[in-house]
Parts: sequence; C-alpha cells; structure tokens
Amino acid sequence: MKKNLILVLNCGSSSLKFSLIKPETGETLLSGLAERLMSDQASITIKYQEQVSQSVLLPPFDHQIAIARLVESLASYELHSAIFAVGHRVVHGGESYCTPTLITEDVKYIIDDLSRLAPLHNPANLTGITAAEAVFPDLPQVAIFDTAFHQSMPEKAYLYGIPYSLYREHGIRRYGFHGTSHYFVAQQAAKRLNKRDNETNFISAHLGNGCSICVIKSGKSADTSLGLTPLEGVMMGTRSGDVDPGVIFHLVDQLGYSIGQVSHLLNKESGLLGVSGLSNDCREIENEWINNNNLRAKLALDVFCYRIAKSIASYSASLTSLDALIFTGGIGENSMLIRENIVNQLSLLNLVISKEKNEKCRFGQSGSINSDGSRNIFVIPTNEEWVIAEQTAQLLSQQTENQE
Ligand code: ADP
Repeated sequence: MKKNLILVLNCGSSSLKFSLIKPETGETLLSGLAERLMSDQASITIKYQEQVSQSVLLPPFDHQIAIARLVESLASYELHSAIFAVGHRVVHGGESYCTPTLITEDVKYIIDDLSRLAPLHNPANLTGITAAEAVFPDLPQVAIFDTAFHQSMPEKAYLYGIPYSLYREHGIRRYGFHGTSHYFVAQQAAKRLNKRDNETNFISAHLGNGCSICVIKSGKSADTSLGLTPLEGVMMGTRSGDVDPGVIFHLVDQLGYSIGQVSHLLNKESGLLGVSGLSNDCREIENEWINNNNLRAKLALDVFCYRIAKSIASYSASLTSLDALIFTGGIGENSMLIRENIVNQLSLLNLVISKEKNEKCRFGQSGSINSDGSRNIFVIPTNEEWVIAEQTAQLLSQQTENQE
C-alpha cells in the first residue's frame, strides 16, 4: 500500500486528539478524540467517513490504551499501513526550536526540560510521543511547536520590562502560542490576495477558549499577545489575560489567597466565565444576552471585545501597512456579534464591517466581511492539524533529499 498519510496527535493531560491526514491536500480520512483519560470515565470517539463510533477505554485508562484502541481502528479500516510518520503538536519549544523537528532522545530531553515553562502541556505532549513510539516504533516522529512561529519576534517585542538577567539566566521572556494557527491563516490570507506571504502584513485574532492576537509582518510573527505562559494578553474563556500584577499582591497580602488559589482564579475562574458569572462558552453568554437580556452577559461580551479591539489597535504600532484583519478560532469563525462589536471599535484603522457579509461567514465558511471602501477583514477557519501534517511531510522529504 502507498504510504501517503500522516497521523497527527495533540496530546493533553487528560485528552488525545488525533487526525489522519493527506498532507498535500489536508484531506482528513479519520479523526477523533479520547477524553477523560486517567479516570474510569475514559472514552474514545472515532470518526471515519460518515461513521462515528464511541467506546469506553479499559484500565489503566491512559494515553497508551487510547492509542492502542486507535491503532485497532486504523487496522480495521486498513489505513494503518499507509501512515508514513506521526506529527505531534508540542506546546513549548522555548528558544531551542523555531522549525519542525525530528524527535530524538535529545529532543525529548529538551521538551522535558521545557516543562518548567509549560508544566501543564509539555509533560502531556511527551506522554503522547512515548505512547506513539511504542506502537509505531518504525515510523519517524516529528514535533511541531506552538511557539515556533513566534521565534521571529524582535527583542523589543519579546522582552518584559524586568531585569535582563531574568531573561538571560532563566528564560523569562514572551514566547507566544497558537503559532500554527496564526501561520496557517496568514498563508491562506496571502493566497486570497494573490501575494507571496513575505509581501503581506496581517493582524490575526485567534479567538477560541484560548485567545491571542498576532501581528504578522512580511509573513513572519512580529508580536503576539500570549507571553511566557498562555495567561497574558486579551481576556479568554476562563483566563483573565492582562491584569495589573498588583492585583496578585492584593489578593495575597490583603485577601489571604495562596499562590495556588491566585493561579486557579486567574486561569480557571476568570475571563468570560468570571465576568459573566455564567459560563466560559461564548454561545451561552450570547444567548443569555440576546434572549434573556442578561446585563452581566452583555458586560462580559463588552469587556472581551473592548480588550481585543485595544490589542488589535496597539499592533498597528508595528506596521506601516496592513493587508487584512483576520478572524479565526471557534469564536472568530462563528460569532457575528463578537466580530461586529470588535470591528466597530476600529474605524480609525479604516476597518468597517458589512452586516450582510458578516452573517454569511460562519460554520466553516471563509470569506471577506468588510464593507466597500474598508480595509480587508477576513474570516478564515483554522486548520492546525493540516499544518502539522504538511510540515511533518516537508521535513521528511527534505531529509531524504539531503541524504541522496
Ligand atoms: P479551543 O480553543 O478549545 O480549540 P474553539 O476554537 O473550538 O476552542 O472555540 C471554542 C469557543 O468558540 C467557545 O467559546 C464557543 O462558545 C465558541 N463558539 C463556537 N461556535 C460558536 C457560535 N456559533 N457562536 C458563538 N461562539 C461560538
């Protein structure tokens, strides 16, 4: 059988997302999700063509069991001998990795070492790598880092205004995340404009449960809103985004919070959830505002949109021209209300929305949503899995060429 498919794995601490992809076209042959891993509720859902099968997982309910179940399924559909590599999403590559990387023992050591900067993500990503190596010992495994695209940021964008020694000695700087998504939508936007990516300047807003804004200058990330950790920047589903660091001292010194409680508050209880007091899910909050006239829901949406609009406007400081503002992510791809609210605060940048076009770009439909005479505003569904598959295949073909 022709080996022309890449298995893409995105491993979280209790979840595993997977897709089997043809790298040249992005066609997804099989996809799915294992959830609630490491608990006796662990289950796996696999989608192949029109069939969706869900099954419980057996003890020890871990990533290895989930991958073993996936492999059984791949074999039953006679797909697994067509796989020629596994591409892994790895969250933190620090300053060590700015390109796709073939995973070796040394690379695993560095991913593990970088767990000090991403304690929730890198250990889970390594678990996925180890589990995949065990079932596919003969296949190359490639890491695509979420931070890699942002390694082009200049020093003035990635340094904090704190003693320089903390950067030199401890790596405390801004790294940024969602790099694969910002890269993908910028590439797609350049294609829409019939330009080479190094001839384009964009601001892209990835708005999902996690949110980040990125300014892309001549095809490269020049600045982004997430920092040392995915807590900085705009407000998100449950994360606060930027707060005065004095808030933390106040919580600890005046209100008796422990550092663990502050971390939980800012990461899990803030954002849309914290302000609305209702939910972190944008759909539910919009529904409460539109159908029940819930003013706390409206307030949460207003704070969310204002903070995003401010962030977008601030990135005009890095640019002398702007080809388009791009919306992506679950909220950016679907919410007419959020897009309209944000763009209405950006008329100074000559960004004006068309109500009619805004209504059309939803549920996977890409397009332009600006009115005539406005600067371009694009909605582009992201596809991080395709980027991982494509970059994995490209790296391996370059290595084969180099060997020949
Ligand atoms: P993640 O960051 O976990 O990948 P997604 O990119 O899937 O998340 O985005 C999830 C967010 O997208 C949720 O807040 C959800 O409410 C929002 N969303 C999805 N569909 C819609 C919709 N039709 N209207 C408004 N928000 C939506």
